[in-house]
Amino acid sequence: MLTSRTEGRNVASELARALDRNEIVPYYQPIVNLQTRRIEGFELLARWQHPIRQNIGPAEFIPAAEKLGLIGALTERLLRQACIDAANWPAHLRLSVNISPRQLHDSRLPKQISGILEQARFPFQRLTLEITESAVVDDIDLARLILGHLRSLGAHLALDDFGTGYSGLRHLQELPFDILKVDAIFVRTLCTKTESRKIVAAVMGLCQSLKLATIAEGIENDSQLEMLRCLGYGNGQGWLFGRPAPAAEAEALLKNGQSVVALNSVAQIAEQVALQLEAMPIQCLWQLKALYEGAPVGLAFLDRELRYLAVNERLAEMQGLPTAAFLGRAVADVFPEESKMSNRG
Ligand code: C2E
Ligand code: MG
Ligand code: MG
Repeated sequence: MLTSRTEGRNVASELARALDRNEIVPYYQPIVNLQTRRIEGFELLARWQHPIRQNIGPAEFIPAAEKLGLIGALTERLLRQACIDAANWPAHLRLSVNISPRQLHDSRLPKQISGILEQARFPFQRLTLEITESAVVDDIDLARLILGHLRSLGAHLALDDFGTGYSGLRHLQELPFDILKVDAIFVRTLCTKTESRKIVAAVMGLCQSLKLATIAEGIENDSQLEMLRCLGYGNGQGWLFGRPAPAAEAEALLKNGQSVVALNSVAQIAEQVALQLEAMPIQCLWQLKALYEGAPVGLAFLDRELRYLAVNERLAEMQGLPTAAFLGRAVADVFPEESKMSNRG
C-alpha cells in the first residue's frame, strides 16, 4: 500500500516533466470492419516512454494527469501529433481520440480541438471522440452543450467501455452519441459464458433501436470475431487485428494490404452456428412479434384462468373492440355465447 502510494506520488511529480520532454507519445490500434475485415481507422492510445520505468500504463498516468489538471495539455499534444501522423493514412480512415470526462467541464474544449484540427488541416468529419462510460459526468447540461457543439462541427461521438459503469444508459439518453463501444469484459467471455452472449446480443438490439453504430473491444480470437459478426456488430478492435503500435507500424500495417485475418475451419464454423442459435433470442422475439402483429387471423395469449394477456390488432378488429378492452378479462366475459357452446361441446 505504502509502495503504491509512493509510486503514485512519483508518477504525479514526473508527469509534468514527461509532458515537457515529449515522453508521452501516441500509439495507434486499428479499428476494423468486422464484415469486410478492412481497417476503418485507428484509436489513439497514450504511451509513456519513460527513460527508466517501463510499465506505467495509461490506466495509471491518465487518472494522475486528470488529478493534476494536466489532461488538457496531454490531449492537446497527442492530438497535434496524431493529426500529423494521420496525414499519411488514406483519407477515408478515421482517428479516434479518448476524451476524459473531466474535459467536459471546460466549455473551451471545442475551440481547443478546432484550433488543432485547423492548423493540421485535419477535417472534423474524420474525428471520433470517445468518452468512457465508467466515469460520472457531473454537469450533464454542460457536457451536452460541449458534445453537441463538437458534433455540429462534424465529429462522431462514441460511448466507450459500455457496460462497465453506472450511468451508461443515462449517458445514452442524455448525450448525442453516434457509436457505442461494448467493453472487452463481455467480448472476452463471449464464447464461454451464455450470460455474456446474451448481454452482447441485447446491447446489439439496443444499438439497433437507438440507431447507433457499434464497435466491439478486445477481440482476441476468430471465435469471438465470428460470433460478433453473426450478432451484427459493425466494427471491432483487438489483438486479433493489431496491438497499439507507433505511427510507423500503423502505416506499415496499412501498406501491407491492411489487416488479414485467417478464415475459420469448418469445425469452428459449425460450433459457432450452434452457439448462434442460443444467442439469437432477441432476433427470434422480433420475428415472433412481427408474425403476431401482422397475422391475417385473430391471435391472443391467455393465462391459466383463460384471461387475456395480449391480443393482436386483427382479433380486436374482428370483434369491433379496442385491444385494451380484452386485457385482464376472462374469455367467458368477452365471448359469453362462444364459451357456453364450447362448454357444451
Ligand atoms: P480504452 O479507450 O477503452 O482503450 C482500449 C484498451 O484496451 C487499451 O488499453 C488497449 O491497449 C486495450 N486493448 C485493445 N485490444 C485489446 C485486446 O484484444 N486484449 C486486451 N487485453 N486489451 C486490449 P490501454 O492502452 O492500456 O488504455 C487503457 C485506457 O486508458 C483506455 O481505454 C482509455 O480509457 C485510457 N486512455 C488511453 N489513452 C488515453 C488518452 O490519450 N486520453 C485519455 N483521456 N484516456 C486515454
Ligand atoms: Mg477508447
Ligand atoms: Mg474502451
